[in-house]
Amino acid sequence: MSQRNVLVINCGSSSIKFALIGEGRSHFLLSGIAERLGSAEALLRVRDRESEDCLPIPHAGYAQALARLLPLARLAAGGELYGVGHRVVHGGEHFTQACRIDPQVVDTIRATIGLAPLHNPGALAGIEAVLQLFPSMPQVAVFDTAFHQTLPEHAYRYALPDELYREHGVRRYGFHGTSHRCVSQRAAALCDLPIDDSCWLSAHLGNGSSTCAIVDGRSRDTSMGMTPLEGLAMGTRSGDVDPNLHIHLMRTLGWSIERIDRLLNQESGLLGMSGLSNDMRTLEQARAEGHPGATLAIEVFCYRLAKSLAAMSCALPRIDGLIFTGGIGENSALIRSLTVGHLRVLGFALDESANQTRGNQGRAIQAVGSPRVLVVPTAEEEMIAVDTLTLLG
Ligand code: AMP
Repeated sequence: MSQRNVLVINCGSSSIKFALIGEGRSHFLLSGIAERLGSAEALLRVRDRESEDCLPIPHAGYAQALARLLPLARLAAGGELYGVGHRVVHGGEHFTQACRIDPQVVDTIRATIGLAPLHNPGALAGIEAVLQLFPSMPQVAVFDTAFHQTLPEHAYRYALPDELYREHGVRRYGFHGTSHRCVSQRAAALCDLPIDDSCWLSAHLGNGSSTCAIVDGRSRDTSMGMTPLEGLAMGTRSGDVDPNLHIHLMRTLGWSIERIDRLLNQESGLLGMSGLSNDMRTLEQARAEGHPGATLAIEVFCYRLAKSLAAMSCALPRIDGLIFTGGIGENSALIRSLTVGHLRVLGFALDESANQTRGNQGRAIQAVGSPRVLVVPTAEEEMIAVDTLTLLG
């Protein structure tokens, strides 16, 4: 049988990230981003192993960008595309795993827009554009929330009146599920443990960040909630604040809901605390030069992360290991070191020389006598491609 190739698509609010993945291949055949969609500056950046191209696609929306991209992907796939896998952020309670897209699935994703107004419309636009352009192309949706549908009720319910959950879906859903699932499987393989008899704390630390408790391959608790704002301090997101903050800002400063929304989602987190940047590399550099805002932002980030991991440990019968992943988790020895420094009560300690060693393979960095601490590169696109291939048989 010829090799099967899958195009993995992640449609954001004004961009489409993509990767063409060949079954069993360790590198992307093609990858890139269509960005600033809808504007005169819209661009399609396409990379293969040898070169990078940048094609202007002025005023292109999702459909026009995909109409340019899909033939390029087909060509790079040797003429045949086996299917398209979409990252869909919110699947509500409807989706406990990836599923093949049909009209009913499209309707259900549309019905969850209310829960993810910033994220799901993009995914839906991408799915509908592919349906329109290539009606016979098999498509699969992989949901960020699906992995967390195994949370027990005491972990997913808010202490709010029952009807808000029953009638309006107000509950914790969790996100980054594809990444937490990926790294827990990789960690189990790395340590020669069966995934269905293993217990992990996982920290996905990127522009968005979350923690997760995983028992026997199933999510048992996670730090994000009804939306990806709950939990850790992130690049520009505040994470947890006193829920009365909204009322306080409205009453004392007369702020509108839209203003508060912008504050908490776009102006807070590392950016807000440092007054400098949401990028951890910039902050580490500034901290080394004595910048007080960057120093505070990093300290808050690590302390809150450690507190969240300690809280997640309540969901585990034992700890087989702590996993760091995502752009920060995989690359920042400083963040790992400061965070683990707050987790001595759980017995964690790092071998600092292993922690400082760079590499793109999964590796152990704990000190002798500590439970495992692992750095495990995440591979969300590959997981989506594998889910797509599995579902398309
Ligand atoms: P992601 O959203 O997973 O792509 O992660 C983005 C974050 O990873 C940004 O805050 C980057 O600054 C951070 N990051 C990437 N490389 C490094 C590095 N070498 N050291 C510290 N942070 C890094």
